[in-house]
Amino acid sequence: MTADIAAGTLVLVSTPIGNLGDLSPRALETLAAADIVCCEDTRRTRGLLTHAGLKGIRLLSLHAHNEMARVEVILAHLTQGRTVAVVSDAGTPAVSDPGVRLVSAAVEAGFTVTTVPGPSAALAALVVSGLPTDRFSFEGFLPRRGGDRRRRIDVVARDARTMILFEAPGRLGATLQDLLGACGPDRRVVVARELTKLHEEVWRGTLADAATTFTEREVRGEVVVVLAGDPAAGRAPDDDDVVGALRGRLEAGDTLRDAAGTVAGELGVSRRRAYDLALELRRNAKP
Ligand code: SAM
Repeated sequence: MTADIAAGTLVLVSTPIGNLGDLSPRALETLAAADIVCCEDTRRTRGLLTHAGLKGIRLLSLHAHNEMARVEVILAHLTQGRTVAVVSDAGTPAVSDPGVRLVSAAVEAGFTVTTVPGPSAALAALVVSGLPTDRFSFEGFLPRRGGDRRRRIDVVARDARTMILFEAPGRLGATLQDLLGACGPDRRVVVARELTKLHEEVWRGTLADAATTFTEREVRGEVVVVLAGDPAAGRAPDDDDVVGALRGRLEAGDTLRDAAGTVAGELGVSRRRAYDLALELRRNAKP
């Protein structure tokens, strides 16, 4: 193993999120020296290694469907003093990628866990967004549907911190529409697409414009959504805040009473006030 990584260590190695030039010298050195490299897709990782001039590396698949079963096998390798590297298809393993359960089991069993840090789509998108980076939250992929999704979006909408979300290109329009419902039209948002690749695009604007733009056009490639924090968080909610939140609930199909109850609980305002504003909203919406 390399001079700075001891035998019997589990090492998480970040790999490029697009541009292969982002594979660091230390990542290369570590992968070359590891006894075993765990990866999501052996063909993809073999391609990366071959591109980097590394041949004959022992690969072991580690993906969402076999991670539990693989843990014991990998711990046995570590026990025998082998050094095990973990990579994912792209970026930093264990961030919306396999590795979390393995790391937790290795820590529990007393093995040294270290990392060769590097590319991650979440941080790459955050730093190019132009939004505040002093406080941020990573939300990964939102639940795809139902009450879980609605509840998560409501929480995201009310957070003061910049929010980082992963999304599939085919779902981007729908997610921006849902965020628009919960956050209102003026919230700033950034869509970072195909970072470090040929067709890199960083779109910046309001949620209203984003929802229109990305619903109308076919979105290709990989995207991260970076949402500005809620400017109202931390101060007493005014009527606009309550109405914005009510609009989101009503558009999601809640009755007036349910929407008022939920929003009252979330924003800490009285049910009466939320209900009166919901009635007014309904009246104004009628032609
Ligand atoms: N662990 C990885 C990381 O640290 O970057 C993320 C894995 S997650 C399964 C894949 C998601 O990351 C994609 O759906 C997309 O949201 C984001 N992503 C990955 N590469 C990207 C890129 N080049 N540009 C924009 N987003 C990217």
